[in-house]
Amino acid sequence: ASPLAVVAGLGHAARRGVVIRNVECVEKAAKLTMVVFDKTGTLTVGRPEVVEVKAYGLPEDQLLALAAAAEKRSEHPIARSIVEAASRAGAEPPELESFTPIPGQGVVAVVSGRTVAVGNEKLMKGFEVDTSRAEKDAERLRELGATIVYVAVDGQLAGILAVADKPRPHAREVIETLRRMGLRVAMLTGDNRTTAHAVARQLGIDHVIAEASPEDKADEIRRLQRSGEVVAMVGDGVNDAASLAQADVGIAMGRGTDIAKEAGDIVLVRDDLRGVITAIRAARGIYRLIK
Ligand code: ADP
Ligand code: MG
Repeated sequence: ASPLAVVAGLGHAARRGVVIRNVECVEKAAKLTMVVFDKTGTLTVGRPEVVEVKAYGLPEDQLLALAAAAEKRSEHPIARSIVEAASRAGAEPPELESFTPIPGQGVVAVVSGRTVAVGNEKLMKGFEVDTSRAEKDAERLRELGATIVYVAVDGQLAGILAVADKPRPHAREVIETLRRMGLRVAMLTGDNRTTAHAVARQLGIDHVIAEASPEDKADEIRRLQRSGEVVAMVGDGVNDAASLAQADVGIAMGRGTDIAKEAGDIVLVRDDLRGVITAIRAARGIYRLIK
């Protein structure tokens, strides 16, 4: 095996937007048995939009204004979608007094003297907010693949926002190709189970691990490895850094966060999911030369 052939292989991949940051991962990438994808921002474009608003006992624009005020300083894509929806509705967000992000759950903020919690079911449970009033609407929207964001004001449920995100270009085709290459494919997400299954169904994925916290994500990868899988994890976010590091091969999306890119062995600089295929084919080619 000539080192020059290896360098040529790495260069070939790099010209296709796939940067293999360490040669040690090439053998693992050639021997993969499973590829695990994060959902939000990886299998979906990560630019969610608010598609429905249900307010309980207050006007919809007021609900949006409160939620937008609370989310103003969050960098989560869901937060951005809420701030945009409020501005589209012409709702003026009141002043934000304090703000605490809760990773994998949402935010808690003080807005005009009121405590506003915006996030998922887990966040509501933590604050003992009764969400039963919204459950029928929430389940209907989840079955369409939407993510439900609950808004509580001073401990009372004030409404829900349904947020939806489009699949990334080529997602379905990449998943099909991986399967044809003999690999198992799974989705790993912090989002709700029903929502995750709805999105997975649209993409042709049948193995779904949902409602996973950032630490759970790394544990799930470890569990798969212990069951004998050689695992690649594909992700984009801060919440994926631990699982990218845990995986045999971490693949970071090019427009993902710096933390994800640093944790990745391979970076898809063109931010194109087809890079996953290119990376694995390149690794198989290089490995044939060096083994
Ligand atoms: P994913 O694994 O899908 O990329 P995250 O781990 O970032 O998702 O978040 C898990 C869930 O927590 C999200 O699906 C969302 O319901 C909720 N969440 C996290 N941050 C926020 C936020 N700033 N506002 C509202 N909901 C949030
Ligand atoms: Mg993500």
